[in-house]
Amino acid sequence: LLAADGRAVPTIFAEMTALATSTGAINLGQGFPDEDGPEVVLEAARRAIADGVNQYAPGRGFPELLTAIAEHQKRFYGLELDPAREVLVTVGATEALAATLLALIDGPDDEVVVFEPYYDSYAASVALAGARLVGVPLRWPDFQPDLDDLASAVNDRTRVILVNDPHNPTGTVFSREVLDEVVRLAHLHDAIIVTDEVYEHLVFDGPHVPIATLPGAAERTLSISSAGKTFSLTGWKTGWVTGPAELVTAVLAVKQFLTYVGGSPFQPAIAAGLRLPDAFFASVAATMAAKAKVLGTGLRAAGFDVSSPGGSYFTVVDAAPLGATDAGTFCRELPARAGVVGIPLTAFVSPARRDRYATLVRFAACKRVEVLSDAAERLASLSG
Ligand code: PMP
Ligand code: GLN
Repeated sequence: LLAADGRAVPTIFAEMTALATSTGAINLGQGFPDEDGPEVVLEAARRAIADGVNQYAPGRGFPELLTAIAEHQKRFYGLELDPAREVLVTVGATEALAATLLALIDGPDDEVVVFEPYYDSYAASVALAGARLVGVPLRWPDFQPDLDDLASAVNDRTRVILVNDPHNPTGTVFSREVLDEVVRLAHLHDAIIVTDEVYEHLVFDGPHVPIATLPGAAERTLSISSAGKTFSLTGWKTGWVTGPAELVTAVLAVKQFLTYVGGSPFQPAIAAGLRLPDAFFASVAATMAAKAKVLGTGLRAAGFDVSSPGGSYFTVVDAAPLGATDAGTFCRELPARAGVVGIPLTAFVSPARRDRYATLVRFAACKRVEVLSDAAERLASLSG
């Protein structure tokens, strides 16, 4: 994580956002919305500050938020959770993932199976926990894995199968067949399923199917989510872990020494957000689906081969038809050539798999439609 000269290597998101800022390019790299979330949620945080919710929260989170998380899981997925024992509030999904892996990994012989490409913090957290990451490649352009590859990656050393559905960076929604196979393999090899579902309300043709709802899964699954994407409040860094009480308590044991607790006034505000009517959540998915469509149309018109995301903020393209042989070079040149920033998919894979994804680029659709249309016009100049 440190460069030869002792600097911390910036994450790909920090690097590409800095590139967008310095060049004035449209930032379709780092996934963050350019409009803030619902006013009622913003107002609830202001009110919490005014009402004095400004000191440490309880270690698991305020009961109001724990209950709202449990009620949300019941309302959308039929999952029954005891808010006092089976829910934990974290500093975003990032801390939830790190604390979960640190809690579950026993030693260097433990393996974590993860679909590849993967969100950048996964490999870092697996390394911090001292385990070995075993990647299962996803196929261009549908980004599902081969079930044989999945089965051969899981064995008795597998401590965790780490799923992210909908998936960053590819935008894929895993097929039921894949999720069923994850559950079957977890049983067979006595592994824990850790599922990152931060894009749960950004499935375009819902409903979202949490892996914890599959037969036999809940008893061995820790589910992670976050307010960032659902409420367009990525800077609030408020997330949660849900699952069997003894597993959640193990995560709490680690979490309390990472951050102790997160920002208090956000918690009642997120609780208010989670209690919004169904129509709000439906509109979150429909709005992002419409944006992804605008982005996809623009990318196709610009000459890219374009995948069809099932959810999330992201669309992946192949830049080879535009002459790219290396997506990293292509993305670093793109601000000067077209005034747009995207992220090379190679930033999300292990060195051994870079060739397989060499010309693929991730673009984020979580921007205002006029910004996406402007980006599409700029990209059209590439093939002109
Ligand atoms: N997991 C995935 C798949 C993500 O895309 C992100 C954020 N972009 C996170 C985790 C981190 O979420 P948070 O900001 O809540 O820590
Ligand atoms: N999750 C966001 C993305 O994938 C960025 C989060 C970050 O910057 N760490 O773009």
